Amino acid sequence: MAALVDRYGRVHTDLRVSLTDKCNLRCTYCMPPEGLDWLPSPELLTDDEMERLVALAVRELGIRSVRLTGGEPLLRRGLVDLVGRFAALRPRPQLSLTTNGLGLVRNASALADAGLDRINVSLDTLRRTTFAELTRRDRLDDVLAGLAAAQAAGLNPVKVNTVLMRGLNDDEALDLLHYCLDHDLSLRFIEQMPLDAQHGWDRQLMLTADEILERLGAEHTLVAQPGRGSAPAETFLVDGGPAVVGVIASVTRPFCAACDRVRLTADGQLRNCLFAREESDLRGALRSGATDAEIVARWQAALAGKRAGHGIDDPSFLQPDRPMSAIGG
Ligand code: SAM
Ligand code: SF4
Repeated sequence: MAALVDRYGRVHTDLRVSLTDKCNLRCTYCMPPEGLDWLPSPELLTDDEMERLVALAVRELGIRSVRLTGGEPLLRRGLVDLVGRFAALRPRPQLSLTTNGLGLVRNASALADAGLDRINVSLDTLRRTTFAELTRRDRLDDVLAGLAAAQAAGLNPVKVNTVLMRGLNDDEALDLLHYCLDHDLSLRFIEQMPLDAQHGWDRQLMLTADEILERLGAEHTLVAQPGRGSAPAETFLVDGGPAVVGVIASVTRPFCAACDRVRLTADGQLRNCLFAREESDLRGALRSGATDAEIVARWQAALAGKRAGHGIDDPSFLQPDRPMSAIGG
């Protein structure tokens, strides 16, 4: 099997597939209040096109795990069937989903039955007013119900993704940890990255990993766990375990040297990094009749050109044109 190796020797085994750029929340760190100009439907990969690309990735390119994301992936029509199609691929990839949790109550069991292995639900606050301010929608209860539904469907351990912002929800680090410990949820804090559509990221407003750990450390003993491998999260045993909390410090402690991820957007563009400024047009190749071998070669070439790091701290850093919601976080 031809591996996806770049010029630094990094082997890519983790594929993130964005199923749609649309969303039913408007998180301030992601989108403006009015939303975005969604991708036109004819430009979106069909289920058949997605299945062909993911099948090639697992069969020919060494991809072992596939994470479905967006936008909000639960808004993709036919999601359960698509999960079933991915689960039927051989070698079978590990299948996970990152979601805001809205509507999960309705289909968590169907997703698990179709073959979904793991789920991450985003939850930044436990306060209803803060949730409404942060996401511009009053839907906290739906997210909490979605978390419970995912657990009841057996998608355990359910992970929670949290972005903290100064002056908005940064006083909730401990409350969120306690909620997750009480509910058997696995919490991971993510540093806010410059990937919002409005280009409004401000380093001063971002909570750093050091600050997050300091807040948690005020009430808990955290012991770093060894053996992180290519995982983006540094994990810490809480008070001797077994509970663990994670911190994904993409900005202040970049892990690019161990990156094993590649991304496919909902409109069929391959990105070798969240912060890439170039894309490789797999949809165009598919629709102009490319053979499997030609698509595989294009995919490998796109990875070969991957940069060593995201360069957020370089004076020449430019935020990518595509926002996180259209890349697939
Ligand atoms: N809509 C789904 C959700 O919110 O989970 C999936 C897509 S969302 C882009 C994936 C993850 O990216 C979420 O956990 C979200 O909090 C995170 N995210 C979005 N914008 C971000 C930013 N600017 N910095 C860090 N994380 C961000
Ligand atoms: Fe939607 Fe997820 Fe972006 Fe929030 S972070 S606006 S839920 S895509």
